Amino acid sequence: MTEDDRAYLDVPFPEKDRARALGARWDAERRRWWVDLNRVSRDAVSAWLPAVAPRRSPGTATVRVRLLGLTGPCWKCHRPTTSVVGFLPVKSDDLDNMLVCRDEDILRHALGLLTDDVRAATSTGVVKSRYSHTEKRSYLSNGCFHCDMLLGNFHLYHRELREAIEHDALVTIARGAVGWAAVRDFLVPDNTWAGAVLHYDPTAAFFDGRLHGPLSGQSWEFDLSEWRPPLGGRPR
Ligand SMILES: [Zn+2]
Repeated sequence: MTEDDRAYLDVPFPEKDRARALGARWDAERRRWWVDLNRVSRDAVSAWLPAVAPRRSPGTATVRVRLLGLTGPCWKCHRPTTSVVGFLPVKSDDLDNMLVCRDEDILRHALGLLTDDVRAATSTGVVKSRYSHTEKRSYLSNGCFHCDMLLGNFHLYHRELREAIEHDALVTIARGAVGWAAVRDFLVPDNTWAGAVLHYDPTAAFFDGRLHGPLSGQSWEFDLSEWRPPLGGRPR
């Protein structure tokens, strides 16, 4: 347990037995009750959580996503390898809502979920910068799991991904959370993303009025006015 897992509580004296029954423990030095958030949910002790001072730092919201991949033969060694292609909210099956990794910024966010264990389990190559002789430049790219050759974007996004979507052939590489900052520039396509947000800070400046609906619970909706289809070029 780290210090961050401890939540200190403001428990009035007459309520101390109830707090103890819920798992609260007494810190004699600070003379306050606290709970281990690994064992006790914030909701269970919400009545005693001290008011939090507003924070202005952006990037505190996280979105629950699946990282999707497409498996096919490597052009060089012909062995099956998986390329990272995009993010979807965990609750969505609508691939029109995918944030597509053809965009280098989106692919960069995939790195956070792409641990060695996850790659090994799904035969996904390393995502890193490679030099492309075709494009005569280096860019962040998918590579072959076996031989590490660059797997270019052209076929992946102009033909293979569309076919895979039609045939429901995408594989889930990982599930996890990415920061709202990772998706905020790619306006959320429709309300299938509503409820995908795990946590957010209502004082965060970047919400800018773009987030509509109730500011609590799991029923947020998003402004779709600037949405562009993910396969149609970089949104915005
Ligand atoms: Zn290969």
